[in-house]
Amino acid sequence: MQVATGKSILNRIAVGKIRIYKVPERVISDALVDDVQAELDRFEAARVRVQDQQMVLYEKALVQAGEDAAGIFMFHYGLLEDDEDLYEAVTEIITGQKRSAEYAVKEAFDNQAEAFATMSDPYFQARSTDVIDVENDVLDVLMGLDAMSMQGTEPAILVAEDFAPSETVKLDKSLLLGMITREGSSNSHTAILARSMNLPTLIQCKEINDSWDGKMAILDGYNQCVYVDPTEDLLKSLTAKQQEDIRKKALLQDLKGKTSTTIDGRTIRVYANIGGPQDVGAVQVNDAEGVGLFRSEFVYLNSKDDPSEEEQFGAYRRVLETLAPKQVVIRTCDIGADKTIDYMNLDHEENPALGFRAIRICLTRKDFFKRQLRALLRASAYGNLAIMFPMIISVREVKECRAILDECRKELEKEGAAMGDIEVGIMIETPAAALCADELAQEVDFFSIGTNDLTQYVCAIDRQNAKLEPFSDTHHPAVLRAIRMTVEAGHRHGIWVGICGELGADLSLTDTFLRMGIDELSVNPTSVLPLRKEIRGIDLRQPPKEQEA
Ligand code: PEP
Ligand code: MG
Repeated sequence: MQVATGKSILNRIAVGKIRIYKVPERVISDALVDDVQAELDRFEAARVRVQDQQMVLYEKALVQAGEDAAGIFMFHYGLLEDDEDLYEAVTEIITGQKRSAEYAVKEAFDNQAEAFATMSDPYFQARSTDVIDVENDVLDVLMGLDAMSMQGTEPAILVAEDFAPSETVKLDKSLLLGMITREGSSNSHTAILARSMNLPTLIQCKEINDSWDGKMAILDGYNQCVYVDPTEDLLKSLTAKQQEDIRKKALLQDLKGKTSTTIDGRTIRVYANIGGPQDVGAVQVNDAEGVGLFRSEFVYLNSKDDPSEEEQFGAYRRVLETLAPKQVVIRTCDIGADKTIDYMNLDHEENPALGFRAIRICLTRKDFFKRQLRALLRASAYGNLAIMFPMIISVREVKECRAILDECRKELEKEGAAMGDIEVGIMIETPAAALCADELAQEVDFFSIGTNDLTQYVCAIDRQNAKLEPFSDTHHPAVLRAIRMTVEAGHRHGIWVGICGELGADLSLTDTFLRMGIDELSVNPTSVLPLRKEIRGIDLRQPPKEQEA
């Protein structure tokens, strides 16, 4: 048995086989091949597999975003039909030039993409990226790099150097027992995803090793370690502990339908954070009273192309309609920093966390921003929507956002679109916003404090950098003071104030937040019931639990 330590994200246990998740380099050789038939067979198998994948994506998109958005996957499916020019071009290169399937796919698809790109019709020009997408999918299957080959078909604990947000969205969650990474920090989006899925996760595990592949392991979140090839006794005792956790979780079910009210009668709202329509079930199952943060950039990360107004409208409408009359706070696209998307063509930056991201991109690319705002306004007719702008630092930015929102509203009124009443708020996640909270409060209906970024910027600690964890203090008095100032400024101007960063789920601070007067806490869905339990056990007439800021 080997024991390797790290930092655990959740007090949970996972038991299962390890699978090493590694992205090898894509190298395509132009060497001649001996066995032409074998290459034709490989191409055929990959072609059929990618067609199957496109069909699955089509069905998924149909449910989550509607027919228009799903149509793109049908188009991809069609490109791979065996009566299409592309099929002929690939098989001709394999047989005529005696090259590998990979080489032939690259040649044929690149030529077709270039042909589309040079057409004068913008519709066909845009299809060029679709051809490249399908090319990459086929190459991934041929080289064993597609999600299915990488993740396997059996439930497993995935072990990797790190996971980028764009990778985590592709993982099949039903096959994920746990995650172990060599890198990663507690506030990274991988950690946030792990918490939202209640997935046992160990980060900063320096001893991960390729030789673990296929071995039995226990990820012990309580003891911040992984046991590889555990002894029978350990397996028995930790499996029993895992069962005990499941039993405790079941006890929380009694809190469903109850209010989040302290012993002395103070009620606050406990909302959930989500990344898209796929998480609505978790909101319902965990009985959240609303959604306090819908990270809309995941709609963009999940899409192969810049999502159209229609596609976004479908996704937002689905969430609003399903959860109505519960309030759903949708944050406008917060792309940039660690959340990068190829089709956005963002320049490489030295300091991305302090760079061109979130509202800065939206205010610069007005058409891109308007597409999202129009989709949101149209969706507002189907539920109780609030819109929230991220990374705000000034009143000027808020005014600009509101002016563009008004412009969209007027356009839609002229078009006769139905729209509901909405609240408009901002995230307080920069020191500038916390310090100017009095001025900002006069421009909006609510504040939601993003403690992940607020902590990063107040303490000058890169949230992605694992090396800085020893210097990081999530309960830093400066962060707590910034939260208190924000709540007080918001209340002075009659608006509600919530927390949607990870600190909202930190039960050791619930008492402190309630005493500050926080109105709403938005946490990952699986933290809703534990948080409600904590609130219901607090008596604000008693002395505070923790030193207040
Ligand atoms: C935050 O910064 O606290 C937040 C909620 O947003 P994100 O984690 O997506 O940056
Ligand atoms: Mg943030």
